[in-house]
Amino acid sequence: MCYNYLMSKIAASSEIEAYCTKCKLVLAHTVVTMDGTKPKRVQCNTCKGEHNYRAKKPATKSTAAKKEKTTRGTSKKSRQSWEDTMKEAADKPHKQYSMSGNFNEGEWIEHSTFGLGCVQAFSAPNKITVRFADSTRMLVCNYS
Ligand SMILES: [Zn+2]
Repeated sequence: MCYNYLMSKIAASSEIEAYCTKCKLVLAHTVVTMDGTKPKRVQCNTCKGEHNYRAKKPATKSTAAKKEKTTRGTSKKSRQSWEDTMKEAADKPHKQYSMSGNFNEGEWIEHSTFGLGCVQAFSAPNKITVRFADSTRMLVCNYS
C-alpha cells in the first residue's frame, strides 16, 4: 500500500479531505493537530469548525437504512404468514410423526411433543427438517 507514503506528507496545517461533522460532507480541511502520522484534529475550510479527523462519512447512517429496508421487506410479513399457515394447516389432514414413518417435503406432521410442523426438507437417507410453531428441528424418519 502507498497509504503510508501519502500519510507521511501530511503535517499540521496541511490541507486534506475529511468528513465534516457539521457540514455532513467530505470537504477540504486544514490539519490542526497530528497523532503520529495521522491527522487528529482538523478544521473545516467551509464552516471553520474544528473537530476530530474522519476520513469518510460514518457508516452508521447507511447501515441503519439498510437494516430498516430488510426488516420492512421480510421478517414481519413472513412471520405473520407462517402463523396463518399454521392455523390453516391445523384444519387439514396431517400425518402422525413416528421414527419409522416416511415423510415428504411440504407434508404436515403432528409430533407428540412439538405439535404441528411442516416438513421443510428431506435429507437422505433418514432425516427430515421440520418447522414447528416456534422452532425448526431435525427428526429421524424411515427408521427400521
Ligand atoms: Zn464544515
